Amino acid sequence: MRKKLAAGNWKMNGLTASLTEVEALIAAHPAPGCEVLLCPPATLVAAMAGVAKGRIAVGGQDCHAKVSGAHTGDISAQMLKDAGASHVIVGHSERRADHGETDAIVCAKAAAALAEGLIAVVCLGETEAERDSGATLTVIGAQLAGSVPEAATGATVVIAYEPVWAIGTGRTPTLDQIAEVHDFIRGELVKRFGTEAEGFRLLYGGSVKPSNAAEIFAVSNVDGALVGGASLKAADFGAIIAALG
Ligand code: PEP
Repeated sequence: MRKKLAAGNWKMNGLTASLTEVEALIAAHPAPGCEVLLCPPATLVAAMAGVAKGRIAVGGQDCHAKVSGAHTGDISAQMLKDAGASHVIVGHSERRADHGETDAIVCAKAAAALAEGLIAVVCLGETEAERDSGATLTVIGAQLAGSVPEAATGATVVIAYEPVWAIGTGRTPTLDQIAEVHDFIRGELVKRFGTEAEGFRLLYGGSVKPSNAAEIFAVSNVDGALVGGASLKAADFGAIIAALG
């Protein structure tokens, strides 16, 4: 049985004062029926881990593929772990678009995360043009094959399907479209990892909010969500956690 996961991505949002939202979230949901993960900007990882005290998981939003070295501005998986992170998002579409991250780069980052004992949340997603041209499954299949390292297991890698056109837009795919992609991802994992494939959590991401969370969580092979904007406020993210748990 896969444990459901509600993951929040704060992106480039949040100052020390924002940690009151984490305290409020934990106070309102002291025993959630699902795993809860928040990924703040790197500047807040250690402080958030201090507030969370293991009651929710804390993750990074990206890591470098190398452990250390001359990479100004970057942060390694080892550093995230040292700061109290247990997870790291890799391959978010904003990183792929803004920083030219290819599947090979994402795969190397995920492998680096696994080597440090972090759980990698590997993001995949088609653009609107790719969906309109009927290429969604081809794109997702290629990203999955290229971004998930060979060493992945259901315990160490989470897959997040996030259509690029649904992120931050208020638009979501139909439930049938979500099911089609999630079922496809599960099938591809089975082909590659055999029985281990059943252990991988598959998150949906893209404009998940309290009003649509329950119907999305009822879709086949949806094991939770990766939530951007609605993870910033305890009330909204708490409602999504309640819908999942
Ligand atoms: C995201 O950036 O991972 C995301 C899903 O954002 P939003 O929920 O704001 O669409």
